[in-house]
Amino acid sequence: MKDGKDTVGVVLGYSRKQFLQAELPGAVNMLRATPFSHWPFLIGTAGKALANYVPPPADDAYYINNIAVSTEARGQGYGTRLLAHVMGEARSQGYRSLELDVTHVNDGAIRFYKRNGFAIVSESGSTELFDRYQLPVLKRMRLLLADKAEMSLDNSGVPTSTTVVKDVTGLYPVQVDEVYAPGTIEQLQQMLQITDKPLSIGGGRFSMGGQTAFPGTLHIDMRGLNRVIDFKPEKRSIRVEAGIRWKQIQDRINAYGLAIKIMQTYANFTVGGSLSVNCHGRYVGLGPVILAVGSIDLILHDGKLVRASPRRNKKMFYATIGGYGAIGIIVAAELDLAENRRIERIRQKLPIEQYQRYFAESVREDAAAVFHNADMIPPKFSKVSAVTGQQVAPVKNCSCSKNTCSGSSPRCLEDIFGASTYTNHYYTCATR
Ligand SMILES: Cc1cc2nc3c(=O)[nH]c(=O)nc-3n(C[C@H](O)[C@H](O)[C@H](O)COP(=O)(O)OP(=O)(O)OC[C@H]3O[C@@H](n4cnc5c(N)ncnc54)[C@H](O)[C@@H]3O)c2cc1C
Repeated sequence: MKDGKDTVGVVLGYSRKQFLQAELPGAVNMLRATPFSHWPFLIGTAGKALANYVPPPADDAYYINNIAVSTEARGQGYGTRLLAHVMGEARSQGYRSLELDVTHVNDGAIRFYKRNGFAIVSESGSTELFDRYQLPVLKRMRLLLADKAEMSLDNSGVPTSTTVVKDVTGLYPVQVDEVYAPGTIEQLQQMLQITDKPLSIGGGRFSMGGQTAFPGTLHIDMRGLNRVIDFKPEKRSIRVEAGIRWKQIQDRINAYGLAIKIMQTYANFTVGGSLSVNCHGRYVGLGPVILAVGSIDLILHDGKLVRASPRRNKKMFYATIGGYGAIGIIVAAELDLAENRRIERIRQKLPIEQYQRYFAESVREDAAAVFHNADMIPPKFSKVSAVTGQQVAPVKNCSCSKNTCSGSSPRCLEDIFGASTYTNHYYTCATR
């Protein structure tokens, strides 16, 4: 960073890949610079003691190795500006978080980074290393580079993550003590091992009524844990991290002719948030989401990672799904997938007295009825608007690019159940 002709600050950093690439040449250079007689000690005793002393950053993190402000320029806000610049650059290059290490004795730096939205995620090193070799305990700090919409501006005009957690309505802002957004499951485990604060957990934060945050807690923001861990199209199964949204899964599996077996009608909720409330969809003949879950991985209050399924740790499985986070934090789930079916929205308005018969005869008994819901729109409670997602035969030799049809079909149908900006908009050829 320059002020006129003077360089006032410098940042040195790199990606996880570069970090790993540099490890071997770094070790070789260190050996070269060390007298041969010290090699056994360096490779043996010191090597073991230093293993994982500086753990690799998360896949999507930009690791800041050094951040320095010249002596003359200190105390003038350059550090904050430098950090804001790195945040912007890293975000524009597709990184989703910043990570750095601070020594345990550097309280000022820890306070500085915390003010700028970083949270301590793990510790490495030991008092033994410190006593014997003067190597300090390292505190790994992490900042989630949230979308611009999730950032607020403080008085200095620098973006900061907020510790006020709101749900989708914005009606119940909750002041939490700290927000921690893990980048990996291991980081979350380590965090739970070192914190003694009460916890609250947030997924997509759509639940209305204060379920996601509690005053004074360490709030775990799960949205950064959103990777597909394993996808087996032939087994119609996918394992995902719990902060992933349904939409991201749809994007991945759509090309394989597969669909999520059970979810809500909107695709912007996270898997963890949905499992935690045991959500339901509008499927005819399919109950809540738990029926499509093979297994879950959850972290208990002490950081222990447990796998639970209908066969293994059964009680934990049934208590966690629908348990609103009381048992542990769901960090991953294996979900059943289904064949992707082409459906058409059929809407019928009828007097309420006729609805029961209509449902029994035209919906429940109809094998082609995939989704159904019936709305009563105030103030007319005497009428029902019944909406059924009806399976239709695929149209041969035809595909849709947005709403333009190539082939013999008369028009393209837009994906009907999910009319929100966050959901997918798939287009399929109509039969009529
Ligand atoms: C417009 C709209 C439509 C909806 N439609 C439906 C519907 O069709 N069917 C239905 O069943 N519900 C529906 N809901 C409710 C919705 O399913 C729940 O609000 C769901 O929990 C939202 O998921 P989320 O990712 O936003 O979770 P959040 O709201 O962030 O969290 C929900 C709960 O789960 C906990 N939690 C979050 N992540 C985890 C985790 N990883 N591990 C453990 N606990 C966790 C939170 O602490 C909280 O208690 C709807 C809500 C809205 C706003």
